[in-house]
Amino acid sequence: MESSHVVIGIDIGGTTTALGFVDRGGKVLAKTTLPTQGFEPAETLVLRVCDAIFGLQRELTPGLKLQGIGIGVPNANHAKGTVEGPVNLPGWDAVSDLAGLFHRHFQLPVAVTNDANAAAIGEMLFGAAKGLRDFIVITLGTGLGSGIVANGELVYGADGAAGELGHTVVDPEGGRHCGCGKQGCLETYASATGICRTVAVLLAERRDPSPLRQLGLAQLTAKRVSEAALAGDPTALEAFERTGRILGMKLADAVAHTGPAAIFLFGGLAMAGELILAPTRTWLEKFLFPAYRGKVKLLPSAIDQGSAAVLGAAALIWNELE
Ligand SMILES: [Zn+2]
Repeated sequence: MESSHVVIGIDIGGTTTALGFVDRGGKVLAKTTLPTQGFEPAETLVLRVCDAIFGLQRELTPGLKLQGIGIGVPNANHAKGTVEGPVNLPGWDAVSDLAGLFHRHFQLPVAVTNDANAAAIGEMLFGAAKGLRDFIVITLGTGLGSGIVANGELVYGADGAAGELGHTVVDPEGGRHCGCGKQGCLETYASATGICRTVAVLLAERRDPSPLRQLGLAQLTAKRVSEAALAGDPTALEAFERTGRILGMKLADAVAHTGPAAIFLFGGLAMAGELILAPTRTWLEKFLFPAYRGKVKLLPSAIDQGSAAVLGAAALIWNELE
């Protein structure tokens, strides 16, 4: 790979689309964001993204050679390059051929996957998973996403959609309602929104004072729960303990499936650091099959959160080009 070679990483979120030119070392040479406007058809977003790419190209040193485009987007089918039934992009067709739409404008390789898979490849190329062949990245944002790497490759499965740990069940008796239509899914407990739901339950069960009691549900955020826990609030600390217990239990199951050397936590709730890592680590060890104990590291992601989405998408296409 020559030093003049670059790729474009594009992360399409429900509200914002971020894109940037990234070199093989993981340096973001230029980046920008635009509103996704998910009520518009996919074609319209692709046209606006192309305009943004040409705009960024004018800022870059001449002579750079564009090698490919990596895209992170919810509900992506990696094998087909399509996006299927994305709930947060209502203007898109049930199946949108995203790779095909980009091929109309660029005669370059295009790779599409979901944001958690992109985060896993980003960790492998540019972050704390360098040199690891077996690891899992868990993204703890609004929901819980996961990218599983086994034998050095992302696990896509027969249907291209493997690894949705967020929608495995933790409560067989029912449990919290999930956006996917099921009940008791992991992400309704272990995510930025999940811990806020746990705080609401604890506040209803208890009578002790808590700074979180003053907040309405709309003002309750994972960041505020972290701040209260750091100040020693027992309700907030209990919420982290319960979240870590459920997450640790399901991660112990995941360890049995692929035998990772490490699991990395990424995203909004992972910003709480040891507040979430410590209880998750404790419960992970307790729930692990004894033969696996003491062998799996639970660590924070080493990717800069500000550029993570673009880096993950760029890492996806770098990885495929190699
Ligand atoms: Zn679900």
